[in-house]
Parts: sequence; C-alpha cells; structure tokens
Amino acid sequence: MTVSQDLFDRSRRVIPGGVNSPVRAFNSVGGTPPFLVEADGPYVTDADGFEYVDLVCSWGPALLGHRYEPVIEAVHAAVERGLSFGASTPGETELAELVVDRLNAVATDGPVIDQLRLVSTGTEATMTSIRLARGFTGRDLIIKFAGCYHGHVDSLLSEAGSGVATLALPGSAGVTEATAAQTIVLPYNDLAAVREAFALNEGRIAAVITESAPCNMGVVTPDADFNRGLREITAAHGALLIVDEVLTGFRSSSAGYWGLTSPEQGGWAPDIFTFGKVIGGGMPIAALGGRREVMEHLAPTGPVYQAGTLSGNPLSVAAGLTTLRHAGPEVYETIDARSLQLQRELTSALDAEGVDHSIQTAGNIFSLAFGTGRTGVRGYADIKASESFRYRPFFHSMLSSGVYLAPSPYEAWFLSAAHDDAAMDRIVSALPAAAQAAAEATPGE
Ligand SMILES: *Cc1c(COP(=O)(O)O)cnc(C)c1O
Repeated sequence: MTVSQDLFDRSRRVIPGGVNSPVRAFNSVGGTPPFLVEADGPYVTDADGFEYVDLVCSWGPALLGHRYEPVIEAVHAAVERGLSFGASTPGETELAELVVDRLNAVATDGPVIDQLRLVSTGTEATMTSIRLARGFTGRDLIIKFAGCYHGHVDSLLSEAGSGVATLALPGSAGVTEATAAQTIVLPYNDLAAVREAFALNEGRIAAVITESAPCNMGVVTPDADFNRGLREITAAHGALLIVDEVLTGFRSSSAGYWGLTSPEQGGWAPDIFTFGKVIGGGMPIAALGGRREVMEHLAPTGPVYQAGTLSGNPLSVAAGLTTLRHAGPEVYETIDARSLQLQRELTSALDAEGVDHSIQTAGNIFSLAFGTGRTGVRGYADIKASESFRYRPFFHSMLSSGVYLAPSPYEAWFLSAAHDDAAMDRIVSALPAAAQAAAEATPGE
C-alpha cells in the first residue's frame, strides 16, 4: 500500500470523497489520487516521494512556477507584519492600481476599468458581479452559456462546466427552481440564440455572463465576432456584459484573453471583469472590476451589499502583487512558446497512433478532445459527444510516466514559465505510450 492510498482511505472517512473540491477527485479517471506534499518550479511531489511534471499548476495560479522565490519572500515578509488586520492596507490599493493599469494599457478606446473590489474566491467574484448587475439594472434574469463554469454560485450551476461536467451532472441539487428559473442557459458561440432570448424577455435581462474564452468544458475558442456580438446585443438592450477572466486573466496575456483579442475586434469591453487564480499567485484572492459608475453601486458607496472578513488579506495581496509584478512580457513569451511546443508534440504523438483528436486553444491555454478532429469543438454539445473514454488510459499512462494532468478531459492544460527543457522533455517522452493507450481504449472501459 502506498502512502497516498493510506492517506486517501483516511481522508475519505472525514472529508466527503476525500477532497475539498470535486475537481481534484479521480472519480472520472479511476484510481487513487496522489497526495501532494510539495512543489517546486514545474514539479510536484507526492507523499510517496514520486515527482511529477505539473500540468495543473494549481488550476492556473502557478504562472511563474511553484515556489517562485520573490513570491515566497514577499509572503514571508508579510507574515512577519501580521496575518490579517480587518482594515485597509497599502497593498490592496497597489494591487488595484496595477490591475487597472494593466487592462487600460491595452484598451483602444479610453479606460475600460476604473475600480476593483477584492474578494477571496472566483465564486465570490462572479456571485457579486451578478448581484451588482441586478442592482445596477433593476432586472432579474441572467444569461449564461452551457459548459461555462463560473464557480459554485447557485444561479450559475445550470449546465456548468468543470467538475459539474466531469461528474455528468445537469446542475446541482439544492438550487431552488425559483433560482434556476432566473438563469437562461444558451448554447455557446450562438449569437442568434442570444438575440432571441433578449427579444423574448425584453427589459428583463440584467446581464450576460461568459467566460472570456471557455476553459472549463475543455477549451473552446470563441468565434471572432462572438464576444463583441455579446457586447453589442447587451448594450442595445441596456443589460450588462460580465466577462469572467478568473481562469484566463493574467494567464492568456498580461490583460487576459480579453487583452489578447479585444484590440483586433474593435476594442470592445465588458461592464464587469472577474478575476481569480493568477491574481492571487497561489493564495486566496479574486476580484471584480469595471467602470466607476458600475462599481460604485457596491457598498459602501452604493446599495449593492458585499463584504468579506478576509477580503484583501495581506498575505494573499503580497503573493498576488508580487506574481503580477514578475509577470512581464518574457513570462508570456515563454509560456506561449512552451504551449505551442507541447501542442505540436501532442498532435504528432496522437497522429502516430492514428488517434483522431482536436486541440482547442485560447492563447497559451489549450485542451485536448478525442474524436473531434473533423468537427472541432464549438460548444458543450460537441465536447459531450467526444470520445472522452480515451482520456482515462491516456491520463494514467501520463501519470505513471511522471506527468500530472487534470483528472478530467474537460479541463485545460496549464503551463508555467518554469517549465524548462528538462520538464518539457519528460512530458514529450511520456506522450507515445499515452497516445498508444488512448488508441487502444474502447468505450465503456
Ligand atoms: C475557477 C473558476 C471560477 C471559480 O473560482 P474559485 O476560486 O474556484 O471559486 C470561476 N470562473 C472561472 C472561469 C473559473 O475557471
């Protein structure tokens, strides 16, 4: 029995499913999850002493690699000053200024964001953005897209991606019908469906929320006119557009996937951005931001209430601020290049075994779908129809070769600036056997 097996048995007794977030569970791939005890650069190490090249990167935050020295030092220095004060700190303003500057630097048509409110999780950021949109517009209904994940907010769990999709759930028990009825779920990349929903519900839709590029049903590349189309339709109907950059923010580029794509799409901008993951550099921080007129609807300047005892926690702010300060152009160039390299190697290994597949991208973020080479993936229906049974043997082959992938075919692959030649070589040499395992997989295995 391995140490991880023993830890898993113990954890399942006292923690539901042995995990504190279902995306960590191995339910869809089977087997015992390795319990991780430390991480360094591009590697994680489990309780049995096995080292893996990490392609989860804490689901995104580890942009610079694990245990990045300046971040660790900044957190240590913050620890020495005290853990939490429940009052304003200078770092919160510095982080807000940095985010505002970074986004406005790529805006083509004047500032797109004036203010930022820090919260502790992406879920809080999207939850607050929904309440803010309702408070701002005085309307009730929300549009979301099938397969997009925006955290475990009651009103956003219908046909959600990520763990909800991995576990093949339509939504969640415990969400009232009244709440679910206020969320309209539409197919992704379908502007006609959005126009129709607005026509049918004139004056009732508060906001459209969308992932900047969906990365929680695997990655889906938005059609070139999709996000801008959402902007035009929402503006025409007096509704807000919420662009969820919790996963893509500060990862696809220094201004997220929005910053990567909007300038060449006429410079459109949402009313509210949400951020998480990278913005905390591995500590709990998330945020929502937008123009002053929208953001000042939040308490204490406005009537929309939102609060948090640990919001803007000084240790988290230190980690986030230092991570963003070190995320210069060379970081994105490195990750972009590594991502292209890995996509090429993945395709060539799978092609060599005749495994039909597609790779979807959102800048340097990508995912793999089996059996979709001819059709591609434009939305949730396509990914649900893919040959996901090939993922389980593929995943376990990679794991046994020392590569830690997300235990679900519906998640993105994450690289960091610390993925050097040695780490890449280890991934590349693991691919042929994994491709062969995928080729030999049969449905229902
Ligand atoms: C991860 C994620 C969230 C939720 O963030 P948590 O910090 O896990 O609550 C929301 N939206 C998107 C797009 C995400 O990827």
